Amino acid sequence: NCQLTVDTVRYRYAKGHDAVAGLDLQMGSGILGLLGPNGAGKSTLMRVLATLTRPTSGRVLWNGVDIARQPDALRTQLGYLPQDFGVYPALSAREFLVYLAAVKGLPSSTSRARVDDCLALVGLADAADRRLGDFSGGMRQRVGIAQALLNDPKLLIFDEPTVGLDPEERLRFRQLITDLAADRLVILSTHIVSDVEASATALAVMSKGRLLFSGAPEPLLAQA
Ligand code: ADP
Ligand code: ADP
Repeated sequence: NCQLTVDTVRYRYAKGHDAVAGLDLQMGSGILGLLGPNGAGKSTLMRVLATLTRPTSGRVLWNGVDIARQPDALRTQLGYLPQDFGVYPALSAREFLVYLAAVKGLPSSTSRARVDDCLALVGLADAADRRLGDFSGGMRQRVGIAQALLNDPKLLIFDEPTVGLDPEERLRFRQLITDLAADRLVILSTHIVSDVEASATALAVMSKGRLLFSGAPEPLLAQA
């Protein structure tokens, strides 16, 4: 149950051009790698999909439900890592995630165990009680990945998730999302083809708000 349909979605900023210029996309479970240069519209599209903003026109359907009409149908099943994710440096990783779990409405009786599960999934179990202010950039980014997993979402949207990760962390991230994508939809944007060439089930290449290509990765990667 993770069918996403993007139907001629257009998004225009108040004083701008079309950042997303009429885009169609269909995905079920798996990993969709969203590639494209800076300014292509990837972050804008992801914010629309995450219901942070409404498209200027067009529709997004999650399991057949229009997310502009019923955003909660998606929000309760959504994990989102924004590009500008920030942590609160005075808190420990566990404290911060327990706080975010409460904000997301997770029941306090189970949230602590869930927080520890998510910290383990990103390899931070041993660092749970350390202050986030002492974390490396890669560790902070992994906290961002962990917070996206708290509510066991069916749709995961990761905006540039591998920025700041070292090669070992990148590899672990690819393994993690490959496991998750068995029965979830993971959408990630990246500049780095190697983040998605082995793991993505589909690729979409954006430029100037449009899709230059979308479909199975092989034909595209064969050209690269
Ligand atoms: P990407 O994530 O692919 O780098 P973005 O979605 O961030 O692309 O940006 C797409 C286009 O929208 C760019 O031309 C960018 O300058 C413009 N844009 C992004 N955010 C805003 C904003 N808040 N106001 C106006 N224009 C914006
Ligand atoms: P430990 O928990 O003792 O650090 P792990 O085998 O879990 O041992 O992790 C080894 C290293 O790999 C960690 O220091 C961390 O940097 C990295 N790592 C582990 N899991 C992940 C993950 N899911 N995502 C990113 N990096 C990870």
